[in-house]
Amino acid sequence: MFGILRRWREDYRLKRLPVNHAQWESAIADWPVARRYQGAERERLKSLSLRFILRKQFESGGGLHLDDAMQLRIATMAVVPILELGLDWYEGWYSVIVYPAEFIPQHEYEDDFGVVHRDRHPLSGEAWGQGPVILSWEDVQATDSQSGYNVVIHELAHKLDMLADGPNGSPPLHKDMDAAQWQRVFTAAWASLQAIVEADDREPPVDPYALENPGEFFSVVSETFFEAPERLKQTWPEVYEQLRRFYRQDPVQPSHRPGP
Ligand SMILES: [Zn+2]
Repeated sequence: MFGILRRWREDYRLKRLPVNHAQWESAIADWPVARRYQGAERERLKSLSLRFILRKQFESGGGLHLDDAMQLRIATMAVVPILELGLDWYEGWYSVIVYPAEFIPQHEYEDDFGVVHRDRHPLSGEAWGQGPVILSWEDVQATDSQSGYNVVIHELAHKLDMLADGPNGSPPLHKDMDAAQWQRVFTAAWASLQAIVEADDREPPVDPYALENPGEFFSVVSETFFEAPERLKQTWPEVYEQLRRFYRQDPVQPSHRPGP
């Protein structure tokens, strides 16, 4: 009952949102990934991005002027991974905070030995279990289909990953997926990237930052899956296949509905 009422209220607010179709189109016009979604899929992408704006609180930090177009762009990038999963996969957290550029996190954290650290490294994005997603606008703008870089998809992939046992590189898998196979495929790709980085004789297929930990690996290959899918499929077809089944999208063949 609550679900129906909530949906009704959201539909009501959606109709009154002062955003027209042209504004949405212009906010994402130069993002190549958005061109992949046409017709009814594009309508659904727009509708989900507006619902994302209704459900989440956008805030700006560091004196950034966060206008409607910026919010529309971030929201559209954010909902691409859950286009076939549903917005409920982003339940349980509320804020998206946007800084002008890389930011120094203000929080402290405790390590396994009980030591509290204050991270001093500037970050392009950050996502906490129940907390906000924090983004650098400069990095949102640096989205790049050549390198596969997309900080919004990266941070939102962390959110999906954290839905099951924290940021361990394994989001909640669908019933028709096999956790052991996921583990095997990702472990092999990890070893492959490690070997490529160590050999240092060619461009790594994904950002070597992926080797920080399994959670980063999942987020980095998720960025690449949406931004540079051909390269990911060519390099690690089995990783591509696992992500195709998880995200229920096939970015290399967007017109084809992925099978189960
Ligand atoms: Zn990350």
